[in-house]
Amino acid sequence: MRILFACIFCFTTIGLSVTHAAEVNLYSARKEALIKPLLDAFSAATGTRVNLVTGKADALLKRLETEGPNSPADVLITVDAGRLHRAKTAGLLQPVNSAILEAAVPENYRDPEHYWIGLSVRARPIMYAKDRVDPARLTTYEQLAEPAWRGRICVRSSNNIYNQSLVASMLASIGQAKTEQWVRGLVTNFARPPTGGDRDQIRAAAAGQCDIAIANTYYLARMLNSKKDEQQRQSAEKIGIIWPDQRGRGVHVNISGAGLIKSAIHKQEAIKLLEYLVSDDAQRYYALSNYEYPVKPGVDYSPTLTAWGEFKADSINLSLLGEHNTEAVKLMDRAGWR
Ligand code: FE
Repeated sequence: MRILFACIFCFTTIGLSVTHAAEVNLYSARKEALIKPLLDAFSAATGTRVNLVTGKADALLKRLETEGPNSPADVLITVDAGRLHRAKTAGLLQPVNSAILEAAVPENYRDPEHYWIGLSVRARPIMYAKDRVDPARLTTYEQLAEPAWRGRICVRSSNNIYNQSLVASMLASIGQAKTEQWVRGLVTNFARPPTGGDRDQIRAAAAGQCDIAIANTYYLARMLNSKKDEQQRQSAEKIGIIWPDQRGRGVHVNISGAGLIKSAIHKQEAIKLLEYLVSDDAQRYYALSNYEYPVKPGVDYSPTLTAWGEFKADSINLSLLGEHNTEAVKLMDRAGWR
C-alpha cells in the first residue's frame, strides 16, 4: 500500500515538471552581478528558475520591439523611469494589478496605469569639493545657473538619461521657460565640455577640475566603499553632498524598476518575482548591494547613505520623467548641453 502511494506521488510530480517547468525570463539593464544573488534567492524560495538576459537598456528595448509578440521575455528591468515609460509607450508592457506591489511601492514610484513599478530609489543631488565650497551657499538646483558658479560645474553629457530625467523633473515642476533659462545658465557654468560618466564628474571635482558635480549618490557611495582602489576612496572623501530644494520640491530622484512584458508566457511567475523583489529581504539586499534607497518605506539601507542624513525627495510621479523626456532632450540641445 505504501509503495503504491509513493508511486502515484512520483508520477504526479514528474508529470508536472514536464508539462510546466516553472521559469521566468528576465531582460535586465541592471548588471548581472547586482541582481543574480536576488534571483537565486527567489528561485530557492519558489522553485521558479529565472533565465537572465542582461544588456544595455536601449538594446533590450530594441530587441523587445524586434521580437514582438514572439519575445520570450516576461519581465524587463531598467535603471530609470524614463526607459520604463518608453517601453510602456512602445506597447511592450502590460499592466499588473497586485495588492502586494501597491502596498509596498509608494504611488509616485509606480506608473499610474500599473505598467511598471520602482524597485529602488536613486537620488541625484549636488556634490561639492569640501575644501572649496561652502555648502550653505548652495541650496537649490536653480542656483547652479548663477554667475557665482561660472566655470565650476562638472556634469556628464545630455544624452545620458539621468540628466534628461533631471531636466524633465524641472519641466514638470517649474515649466518650460524657467527650465530653459536654468539649463542655459548651467551650461554657461560648465568647467569643461561634458565627458565621462557620473563617477568621472566626482573624480574631476576631487582633482580640482571643478568645484561642483551633479551625480547619483550610489556612485559616490561605491567609491567610498571601494576596497580595491585606495585612490578612488581618497577622491570620494573630498566630496560632500548637498540635498537641494529642501524648502521646495525636494531632491531629484529616479528609480530602477520593472514591468511585465505584454506577451509574457510566464505571467504568474513573473508577478511572483516582482512581488518578491519588493519584499523586505529583497528590498534590503537590493538597496544595500548597490548603495541605493529601498523603494519600500521602513526598510533599512547602507550606513554610507544613512551618514548623509535624510532628505526630502521630489514627490512628483516618476511617469512624468518619461512624459517630459522628448521635450527635455530638445531643450538641452537648444541650450547647448552636449
Ligand atoms: Fe548608474
